[in-house]
Order: sequence, then structure tokens, then C-alpha cells
Amino acid sequence: MGIMENPKNGYDAAVIGTGLGGCACGALLAKAGLKTLILEKNEKIGGSCSYYEKEGFKVDIGTHMFTRGNYGPIGEVQRRLGIPRRIQFAQVSDLALLTGAGYSLILPKEAYRYPAFYYQLYRQLDVPLKDFIAVSKLFYDLVMMPDSEIEKWDERPVDEFVAKYVGKNLRLLGYLGGILGLFFVIPFWEASAGEAIWSYKRMFGERTLSYPRGGASRIPSVFLEAAQGLGADLLTGSRVTRIRVENGQVQGVEIEGGTFFPARAVVSTTSLRDSVFHLVGEQHFPELYREKVRKLKKSIIAFQVKIGLDKKLFKAGALFGARIRDKNFDPKKVTLEEVKKGYQEIMEGKIPQVTMVYCPVPSNFDPALAPPGKQLITACTAGPTTDVDLQDPPEKWLDELVDTLDELIPGLKKHMIWCDRFDTKFIANWIGKEFGPAISTAQTVDQVGKNRPLIRTPIRGLYFAGDGAGGRGVGTELATQSGIECSEMVASDLRFGLLG
Ligand SMILES: Cc1cc2nc3c(=O)[nH]c(=O)nc-3n(C[C@H](O)[C@H](O)[C@H](O)COP(=O)(O)OP(=O)(O)OC[C@H]3O[C@@H](n4cnc5c(N)ncnc54)[C@H](O)[C@@H]3O)c2cc1C
Repeated sequence: MGIMENPKNGYDAAVIGTGLGGCACGALLAKAGLKTLILEKNEKIGGSCSYYEKEGFKVDIGTHMFTRGNYGPIGEVQRRLGIPRRIQFAQVSDLALLTGAGYSLILPKEAYRYPAFYYQLYRQLDVPLKDFIAVSKLFYDLVMMPDSEIEKWDERPVDEFVAKYVGKNLRLLGYLGGILGLFFVIPFWEASAGEAIWSYKRMFGERTLSYPRGGASRIPSVFLEAAQGLGADLLTGSRVTRIRVENGQVQGVEIEGGTFFPARAVVSTTSLRDSVFHLVGEQHFPELYREKVRKLKKSIIAFQVKIGLDKKLFKAGALFGARIRDKNFDPKKVTLEEVKKGYQEIMEGKIPQVTMVYCPVPSNFDPALAPPGKQLITACTAGPTTDVDLQDPPEKWLDELVDTLDELIPGLKKHMIWCDRFDTKFIANWIGKEFGPAISTAQTVDQVGKNRPLIRTPIRGLYFAGDGAGGRGVGTELATQSGIECSEMVASDLRFGLLG
């Protein structure tokens, strides 16, 4: 039987979710000639990479930068779809400003400015002469380490990798570890060094930190347009309430309202816990598998604000900043223990002493995202997932975020036209993943590389993709890579007659 023939007059594949994982997978399944249905619970597509419009601004739902542009899996999906570089990734000369707590450093786009960047970095971090060569070796290894070596670091944490170079200098360990662990939204002493080195090697080696023209939502839009052009059906406002399984074989999906869509393969891109315990039902999985899914660790999440400014106040592409509330605290003397304490405060639902902000400025990459002369700011600060009771109310976290931004971008409050504030419950509801983590299967030492949950499941015809299973790299690219891998598996399993 060919893959286009469908015994039950249903779909070859149903894909749940239109985040980057679902869109990449759905489009590539359609490209492989499969009759594909893509289902999204929200009225709008895109998951974390969705958007809304306000007073002439096009605003991202998430807070995003992209580490690999078209050089990574997002480019690969377009190549496979026969639409190379339909998405354009933009860069600006000052890619990011790292500022606050006594530091101010510009990450440049151009390679010729790197020596000055490293000079400033060493100077501001106060790297002692005795550590100079070791720190230089760390940066060299970060870009030059062969992938076979990197894999050996998968099961070891970022702090162990940094300590190999800076040894007992706990201050340098705190700063360099913080930078390397940044992308994974978990403490760096839990994050996999292999995953960090792999990601930084590509971002610095390819010099591809960027942002798409048209906003983050341009990516799912292009993928889904291609999918529909290849015959895939897309249903928005359609929450899947059940993945039907009989005798260890997927039958299809049921949406709110009761409509059932038969499908020979089902790809779920919500979290593994949601898929196993809420959509399929745990009784269909072997006990060992259930236990593994139950114990999976998730990342933390963020409080977010989106701000429209009446003029361009900030020059760089993004701001990575910090504000210390206790004015007697000397950031140059920070120790690893204090960094750990800050993380512990977040985990207990308390606003930490040091507020860290991550703030891409989309209109600096694409001025069309704001009305002429105006500026769009998107920013977030780390917060606990929604299973943690907040000790400080959400409004206070958001006030703290805005106050921090106002200190780091002078004049911000004065030039604000509007400010939309989103607590952690908002993003949790939007992406629909239990407790709303930024990365549903966190990239801890025991959850990456060969220990990452597999895309294939014990149920015939059921696959997990997105940031929960498979893939490698940073958030959006991890999810896209997983979508690519999943599409290959589904197409091959159907072709070899392995599914019903
Ligand atoms: C605040 C924030 C900042 C981030 N910053 C970055 C960054 O700078 N760079 C980066 O690369 N990554 C970043 N990430 C991480 C990145 O956004 C995610 O890891 C990635 O986009 C997840 O993609 P996904 O395909 O797994 O699914 P998601 O984007 O999470 O989408 C899942 C989709 O599935 C849908 N869905 C869920 N359940 C159902 C159901 N039952 N029926 C139908 N549809 C359903 C949801 O509505 C949603 O559209 C950030 C994330 C957040 C939240």
C-alpha cells in the first residue's frame, strides 16, 4: 500500500500544535507526499512564535532571538521545502548590549570588532593575568571543539566545563557559567555543557545571532503556507482533547466538540507529560515509560512585557541586563553561592535580589514592526513555572521588570506609548504545556544527546516532537530540528508499512 492510500479515508498524519516543531514537521510530511492535518488550539498559529497587532506595532507573543538564522534547522526546513531563504534573518551592527551591575559591553556583528570585544570582556570581568591564557583557551575551545569531543560533555554540567579553565576563581565561574547557560532557562550548574558548547560553537562560528524580518511569527507562517500549498489541512481553534489508541496502535485524534479525525500517525508537540497523561492516557504506556515521563525536568519560564515607544531610544539589537536592588551589593565581588541563592529565590516564587532582563528589540532588526520613528521593545525576566506558588504577586514581578528596563534604557517610561504585561500564567495557557515552561524537556545533563526522550514512542504511530523530544540546540531551533527528525521517521515508518 502506498503512503497516499489511506484505508480509513482519514489522514496519513495528524500533527498537534503549530509551534516551530509542529509547523516544521507538518510541512515536511506534506512535502513527503503524506495527507497531513495540522491542528492548533489557538485561533492564531505559531505557539511561542505567534504575534498580535497593536497601534501599528506587530508584537511577538514570546521574547526571541535566533542563534543560527538560515544556517540552522530553520534554513534546512526551507531548503527541504524548496523555498530556500524565504525567511530573511536580519542582523544589526551592535547585536547586543550587555549592561547593568557595573558592566557595559557590546557584542558586535562584525568579526573585525571581536578583538575589541574580548579586550573589553576581559577588562570588565577583571580576568587576572594568571587566568588570561586559560580563559582564552575556553573561548577558543568553545568555537573549535570537534562535535565528537562536545558529545563527551553532554552528561556534564556547564560549571564543570568552565571550572576546567578558571578553576577556583568562583567569580569568573559565576559570570562565564551564567553566559554559557543563558539559552537553556535553567541554572547553569544543571545545564548540559555539551548542549551549551554545541550551541555557542555554531552561534559564534557562524556569527548568526539574528532576528527574522516580519517578526518571529514569519517562521511558522512560511512553514504553514508551504504545508498548505502542498495539500496539508490546517485547523485552528481546534484543541485536541484525545489521541485515540487501540491495541497499542494510534487511531487518530479527537478535538473539542467531539469530531474525530482518523490518522495512521499522530505527532504531538505539546509536552510529553501532557501527551502521555492527558491526551493518550497513561494506561496505554508501559510502566517504565510512564515513570520516565513523570520524572522529566522542565525549564523555568518568564514574566514578559511588550512596550511601544514614541521614539527610538535603544540602538543595539538586544539588551541583556541586570539590576541589583541592594545598593551595598558589589557585583564585582559576586560569588557562585550568591548566584545560586538568586536562582533559589526564583524557585521559591520570590523576586530575586538581582533582576536579570533579556530584551530583544524587534524593530531594530525590522523597522516595519513599528510605526515610522517608533520602537518596539520585548522583554522578559526569569520566573518560576505555574506549579510554584508566587510569594511576590505577579504585578510586583512585572513592576520590577519595567523598573529595571527603565534604569537600563534611560527615558523608557517617559517615552512609553503603551506597555502590555504578561504573567507566567498567560504564556502557560497560550502554549498549552503543563505549567508553561520555556523548554518542556529541559536540557539538563541527563536529558540531552543520547539521553533525550525519543521521538518514537512505545505506541505504534505515535510520535513526540517540539522542545519535548529529540533535537539539539537553542529553544526554537531545538524544536525545529526535532520537527525535521520526526518527519523523517513518520515518512519512513509509513513507507516501510510499519503503521496500520
Ligand atoms: C518567554 C520565552 C522566551 C524564549 N526565548 C527564546 C529565544 O530567545 N530563543 C529561542 O530559540 N527560544 C526561546 N524560547 C523557547 C522557544 O520559544 C520554544 O522552545 C519553542 O518555540 C517551542 O516550540 P514547540 O514547537 O515545542 O511548541 P510551542 O511554540 O510551545 O507551541 C506548542 C503549540 O501547541 C499547541 N497545542 C498545545 N496543546 C494542544 C492541543 N491539545 N491541541 C491543539 N494544539 C495544542 C499550542 O497552542 C501551541 O501553539 C523562549 C520561550 C519563551 C516562552
